Amino acid sequence: MASASVSARLVCIGCGQEQREPAADFRCSHCGDLLEVNYRLFDERRNLPAAAQLRELWRQRKTSLTPADLSGVWRFREVLPIVAQVGEVVSLREGNTPIYELPRSARSAGLKTLLAKHQGMNPTGSFKDTGMTAALSVARERGFRWVGCASTGNTSASMAAYAARAGMRSLVLIPEGKIAWGKLAQPLEYGALTCQLRTDFDGCMRVLGEVIDRFPIYLLNSVNPYRIEGQKTAAVELMEQLDWRAPDHIVAPGGNLGNCSALGKGLLEMQRLGLIDRLPRLDVIQAAGANALVRTVRETGGKRLVGVAAETLATAIRIGNPASWKKAVRVLEATGGVVEQVSEAEIAIAKAEIGEDGIGCEPASAATLAGLKKLVAQGHVRAGEAVVLILTGHVLKDPEYTFKFHQGSLLAEEESGKKLEGELRRHQRAPVVLDAKEDEILRLLERESEPGQGKF
Ligand SMILES: *Cc1c(COP(=O)(O)O)cnc(C)c1O
Repeated sequence: MASASVSARLVCIGCGQEQREPAADFRCSHCGDLLEVNYRLFDERRNLPAAAQLRELWRQRKTSLTPADLSGVWRFREVLPIVAQVGEVVSLREGNTPIYELPRSARSAGLKTLLAKHQGMNPTGSFKDTGMTAALSVARERGFRWVGCASTGNTSASMAAYAARAGMRSLVLIPEGKIAWGKLAQPLEYGALTCQLRTDFDGCMRVLGEVIDRFPIYLLNSVNPYRIEGQKTAAVELMEQLDWRAPDHIVAPGGNLGNCSALGKGLLEMQRLGLIDRLPRLDVIQAAGANALVRTVRETGGKRLVGVAAETLATAIRIGNPASWKKAVRVLEATGGVVEQVSEAEIAIAKAEIGEDGIGCEPASAATLAGLKKLVAQGHVRAGEAVVLILTGHVLKDPEYTFKFHQGSLLAEEESGKKLEGELRRHQRAPVVLDAKEDEILRLLERESEPGQGKF
């Protein structure tokens, strides 16, 4: 395997200083802001094939059998030259995720068609894998033995799997009792050292910061700029799947805001490289109970982070002080996207609707459809426009949420739940408990077959 030249530079997004030896927390040594990967070759256009050649190269690799080409991240390695040996990357064949049509969800949102790119179809069930293969490969190349993260669940699941593949140790800090079972199970299975701390995500992040100062652990939270590089390839893969015709809108959920920042970086770079000729708007949706970006934009015009005490059943976006808020604000400005918030009941209904399309996703992912409905109602999205939802996690990540929803016990105390009670009930499918007699089943089948009884 040919070795790529590592032409990536780490540059501070605040003061613009290049950081040759980044600190353990990936903060700028001058101003403390986040770093991002920046490529000289993009500026000088050196050693980089033209857009048409890149597209052809990436297409050809789809028939290759080498591990890096089988990865939906490293197949696009020309736009992430961050490792010296592409043949040595730690990969679980991440990326390569499908695009689905969502006809029922489209109708519910008032659109003619609606597409979803399902990042929950990654190896550990969330988009985090696309970033993890990138950053963990860098960690291994740098000779680290330990990697670590604070997590609402999916980052730890992903990190633990990739660390196991690489023969590395991993430290997971998660908030006690506020994590979906499907996600907690994964780091245990993959052999991580898993600590549940009596605090929230932001508290876990604080503690981890102290630990990495005193022990050589490579930090794999999304402040790690190499994770953003891996995650941006989802945008590249999406454009390839759409035959390089950019949609009007891409809608993503926002928690720590690394993902929307990554997708936005990918879009902007593709535009610079001539791979797409116009930018989709990137719209970000948050849970109303974890709406730091919404408040940051509305109250300060995006100038200052307004932190919140995060509370939502969509645990993947239960984050009050998003690390990548500044990157996200810039993506909104650069693409003309907006940020919107949705209630718990709106998320629950949207999740059920995506399920009724035969797809399913985790609660945080469903915030996209819930938010899209609002954006259509506001006129930001028009009925004939092309929209792609980014579904970030797999439906099996949080089975407890799904089960409680269908039983009707998920939102008992919710104000917005009362308002939408009829709509909620229409989507609920609790299991029916019957005696073990065929007559009971037949009666049920007849009732369900009556006109007007079709669920969808
Ligand atoms: C991590 C995660 C998010 C939030 O992504 P950020 O990069 O933190 O904004 C949303 N959905 C799922 C399923 C996730 O795992």
